[in-house]
Amino acid sequence: MVSSVTIPPPACMLLPLEVPNRYLFGPGPSNVPPRVLAAGGRPIIGHLHHEMYEIMNDIKKGIQYAFQTNNHMTLAMSGSGHAAMECAVFNVVEPGESVLVSVNGVWGERVAEIAERMGAKVHTLVKAPGGYFTNEEIEKALAKHKPVLFFLTHGESSAGLAHPIDGIGDLCRKYDCLLLVDSVASLGAAPLLMDQQKIDILYTGSQKALNAPPGTAPISFNDRACHKMFNRKTKPVSYLFDMTHLSNYWGNDGKPARDYHHTGPVSGFLALRESLAILAEKGLENSWRHHKEVAEYLWKGLEDLGLKLFIKDKDLRLPSVTTITIPDGYEWKELLAYMIKHHQLEMTGGLGPSIGMVIRVGLMGYNCSTSNADKALAALSDALKHCPKRKA
Ligand code: PMP
Repeated sequence: MVSSVTIPPPACMLLPLEVPNRYLFGPGPSNVPPRVLAAGGRPIIGHLHHEMYEIMNDIKKGIQYAFQTNNHMTLAMSGSGHAAMECAVFNVVEPGESVLVSVNGVWGERVAEIAERMGAKVHTLVKAPGGYFTNEEIEKALAKHKPVLFFLTHGESSAGLAHPIDGIGDLCRKYDCLLLVDSVASLGAAPLLMDQQKIDILYTGSQKALNAPPGTAPISFNDRACHKMFNRKTKPVSYLFDMTHLSNYWGNDGKPARDYHHTGPVSGFLALRESLAILAEKGLENSWRHHKEVAEYLWKGLEDLGLKLFIKDKDLRLPSVTTITIPDGYEWKELLAYMIKHHQLEMTGGLGPSIGMVIRVGLMGYNCSTSNADKALAALSDALKHCPKRKA
């Protein structure tokens, strides 16, 4: 029979899948514990089966614990951290409204662009990577720009900064503005209390301290945020991220039936549930303490190697992602390539405005141990010995 197929099967598809084992000690994704991998390998069930709804209900409770919130409007996005960023902005902002974004690294830049693309009037508060904003600076900008939404990154992973949060929620209420916080790189690693700190919308990612595979992103909206997003005049620009539909899919809208909106990432949700279970078993405060202790051990080891930490003030350092000033004379890309080649160990360079300024080491969740800190230090020390110094 003459074949109608003119394009042959690609040769690569006839070879087995190869995936190396690596130490993922960059800013994420992080290595995933066998228990979470196994959960993701369980049978697929229908995304609208009642067992799946139960699993989604469990995920909701796990997120409420991890975020320290009683918010009913809590769910996980079918998508990475960017999906949660876009969901937050698309749902609470209407075209033409004023949005204030703090930019002290790449994440503020991204949110400013997302808000601009959907037609918001975007104002920025800008600092160089590693900088942070005082409550006085924030209040001045809130008074000037009268935004409906203020964005702040809690764990600025491109700079290694943990931004102070206290008092900002009160300021946002005073100026009738919603506070949106990104905790993708900090959740589970640094203290954050959504309700007590009056955060109106909080999101995170699955692939950092939670140690689930990339691809799902917890998010929560309080009543102030729900009031704004469910009383809008225009429809959000995205159908997939429209909270009217997502709140129904997650059983949050009080309607008796949960209808088909999109097919959720079933395996991703199973893995996310397991990672939230591990956090619940360990306890949030233990997790925060553990990340801080391991980070301090790493910081001391880096200083003993003669390296300089990019964030000078210890209290402002993000425990999950440490930034090292690129050591004098070295090409940072060579150091990173050496560690991958000889140690199967990933660290990364900067991102956005911090490119060329820092090397980033992440020890998060499952990877957060002093023995892994020793591995990272040994690899760096070896790279410093073997990579050429190009400048005096
Ligand atoms: N915010 C922060 C602080 C992050 O570190 C990241 C991921 N590096 C993101 C947002 C974006 O998340 P994702 O890559 O999962 O879309």
